[in-house]
Amino acid sequence: MAKRDYYEVLHVSRDADDEEIKKAYRKLALKYHPDKNPGDKSAEEKFKEIGEAYEALSDPQKRAAYDQYGHAAFDPRMRAGRAGGFHDPFEIFREAFGGSGSIFDDLFGGGRTDPTGPQRGADLRYDLELSFEEAARGCEKEISVTKLDQCDVCGGTGRTAESKTKTCPTCGGRGQIVTARGIFSIAQTCPRCEGAGRTIENPCRQCRGTGRRERSSKIKLRIPPGVDTGARLRSSSNGEAGARGGSPGDLYVVLHVKPHEIFARDGDDLICEVPISFVQAALGAEIQVPTLDGPAQIKIPAGTQAGNVFRLKGKGVKNVQGYGWGDLHVRVTVEVPTKLSAAQKAKLQEFADACDENVNPISQSFFEKAKNLFR
Ligand SMILES: [Zn+2]
Ligand SMILES: [Zn+2]
Repeated sequence: MAKRDYYEVLHVSRDADDEEIKKAYRKLALKYHPDKNPGDKSAEEKFKEIGEAYEALSDPQKRAAYDQYGHAAFDPRMRAGRAGGFHDPFEIFREAFGGSGSIFDDLFGGGRTDPTGPQRGADLRYDLELSFEEAARGCEKEISVTKLDQCDVCGGTGRTAESKTKTCPTCGGRGQIVTARGIFSIAQTCPRCEGAGRTIENPCRQCRGTGRRERSSKIKLRIPPGVDTGARLRSSSNGEAGARGGSPGDLYVVLHVKPHEIFARDGDDLICEVPISFVQAALGAEIQVPTLDGPAQIKIPAGTQAGNVFRLKGKGVKNVQGYGWGDLHVRVTVEVPTKLSAAQKAKLQEFADACDENVNPISQSFFEKAKNLFR
């Protein structure tokens, strides 16, 4: 397919100035942006074409070459320069929009290698310990993170009014230097511009052109109710600042929930072991059990065994995704009395003497089975 004329692509005249070209590009790039035209292949093609045209026409050297040679000026077969680095509409888009052009970082996760261009900040991890109640009920936390933040002098661009982008004097803008070794020529990435072909003159002194400085900042986090150990929350844009106007990374907060003295978690359900006396177990009782909302009364029926579980519906933990509430499972343990007085022992003996085999049917059935075993 024949390439369209770059001026035609941007709908500008051949003598348009830089400002006109920039304006035309922004307008068209926004219109055909993949975010606005999801799944539309022709818009995607247009978008690439616009980016390519802008890359050529916004750079005075490239524009002059294009005016003279047309598309042949950029034919990769005729270029000894940066391999593959040329047709990158995303890179330019970010240049044109400065720090606000973060959509691309979000789409492509950054990772562009141009060392003079914007770069997305790194994602950070923070381990946060929560009490059992904080995790169950949700809470707000303020944490302090020392990280690379935007430079306040240059606003994160790495540049000041005196800064200028210059064609790299070492490689002449090719990003590579070629050295002769005997009969071979070896192409190496230019050490000065690290392959970008451009360097910045007079960068911001405070951050030496990186756009970032290490600082401690306080970050407020809203922890939703129902989180548990291992949950990972993303605090958008609170990672490291991007370099030279790139978008910031994200902060990932990994939660660790401290165990509770009384409650255990099983997903959204809570488990609580409640001891009762053997008299309460035998006769039945109303007992008080703890819940996260305060004490609740439950009825223990006569003849309750150790290990029996009573369910309090909806008294568990709120589901972190909003699917209702878990339950509280009260597991009964029966406490065998210790330190009995002589009088108490006598009463128990009296009780035991009054018992027949029907009082303890579980024991009865067990010993029947055991007897059969040795017959
Ligand atoms: Zn700075
Ligand atoms: Zn260079």
